[in-house]
Amino acid sequence: MEPANFSDILLEGLAPDGGLVVPKEVPHVELSEIESWRGLAYPQLAVKVIGKLWTDIDIADLEGICERAYGAQFSNDIVPLRKIDEQITLVGLSEGPTLAFKDMAMQFLGEAIPYVLTKRGQTLNILGATSGDTGSAAEYAFRSQPNVAVFMLSPQGRMSEFQRAQMYSLPDENIHNIAVEGVFDDCQNMVKELNGDLEFKAANTLGTVNSINLGRVAAQVAYYFWAWLRATDALDEAGRAEFEATFSVPSGNFGNIFSGHLAGQMGLPVRRLLLATNENNVLEEFFRTGVYRPRNRENTLATSSPSMDISKASNLERFVYHLLGSDAHRLREAWEKLDATGSLDLSAELERFASEFRIVSGKSTHNDRLAAITWVHETSGEIIDPHTADGVTVARELAEPVENVLVLETAKPQKFADTVIEALGFEAPVGEELADLLGRPQRTVDMADDSQVLRDYITEHAVR
Ligand SMILES: *Cc1c(COP(=O)(O)O)cnc(C)c1O
Repeated sequence: MEPANFSDILLEGLAPDGGLVVPKEVPHVELSEIESWRGLAYPQLAVKVIGKLWTDIDIADLEGICERAYGAQFSNDIVPLRKIDEQITLVGLSEGPTLAFKDMAMQFLGEAIPYVLTKRGQTLNILGATSGDTGSAAEYAFRSQPNVAVFMLSPQGRMSEFQRAQMYSLPDENIHNIAVEGVFDDCQNMVKELNGDLEFKAANTLGTVNSINLGRVAAQVAYYFWAWLRATDALDEAGRAEFEATFSVPSGNFGNIFSGHLAGQMGLPVRRLLLATNENNVLEEFFRTGVYRPRNRENTLATSSPSMDISKASNLERFVYHLLGSDAHRLREAWEKLDATGSLDLSAELERFASEFRIVSGKSTHNDRLAAITWVHETSGEIIDPHTADGVTVARELAEPVENVLVLETAKPQKFADTVIEALGFEAPVGEELADLLGRPQRTVDMADDSQVLRDYITEHAVR
């Protein structure tokens, strides 16, 4: 929690043992300033919003970063809004190369981190383990960056055809897909072992890009502003001045919705944030009861919205810090208590801030997802994925009659064909580009579950 400048944080956030950094002071944006951004394209709006948080960068450089990050890798309008009915509108966050919302932040980090590294004459070797999706967002973000290499471990033969095609077809020299003879836990254990060897880590400038990097949160704040601006484009001046947006956010690690919380704290008119979980409802329970009770692996279900199958929410600590009056000492005490007893009762604090923070939670089941996919298709002709379906379910359950809800679309339905077929009887049409992806040659390094072999490989291939 030491104050540091944003450029430091971008690199330090990479350390798996680094504490969570929060902005020292939340910058405030007046409504008149938000209005002055209305005519901007997405990359230029991102410069305005991220520039409020990343203050130690030359604005011309930030412009270059955002233009490269939100460029040709995205299809359509970067973040398109699609109306489903009078009350529900989708905010498309999955137009990037891996068809999921992680690209929104990862593409930014893929430009911002190499920029800082270049300024400092440093290099970075990203070591990670993936069971599917987070790894590919990182690979697409850092491909062909000269001062970065990515070593991504995945369990041999345990990913979907689509996931394999997406990751293993990247031809870039600096991307190393390492297919381990084992399961995801074996991959993760090897990463942990190497990260714990500080000498090896320093010698090879190893780091990870984890979900708690503040740069990721900052990049995500931008699309909340974008969605508010697009949702109010058709209103007159008076209508715009009083419009408050409600967002429904399919949630796992609390990263996406924390960015929405920060947008509201910065001055974006937010009426409510609806936090949607699947059957793994640790967060739904927290916002309903005030008690945070993380679960272990055995009590985490494998659901049809798998990117939300979490047992503890790594970003929640940031929000709890706000709840505890931005007092690092109280936060440390609370976390010690959580570690000792397995749960943390913050109901009094949540109550106190309820009118300021306005986060309400709901949960969805597999059958709810199927029903939401069917309803959206029947109502609008659109096809949504099961994560977005969790958001739609909770939006329909919690929306007040006067309320319009912006549901964040966190993935494309083509990534989760089985559930879409179960709901609709057919799958979302696969475009030419996707069909082409499945046919491309794949390239992996097959490796035994042996950390010495991994060490040797990294030593030989790391960027220096
Ligand atoms: C990561 C992810 C989520 C959850 O986002 P958090 O920031 O972890 O809350 C939801 N949907 C999809 C498709 C994701 O990939």
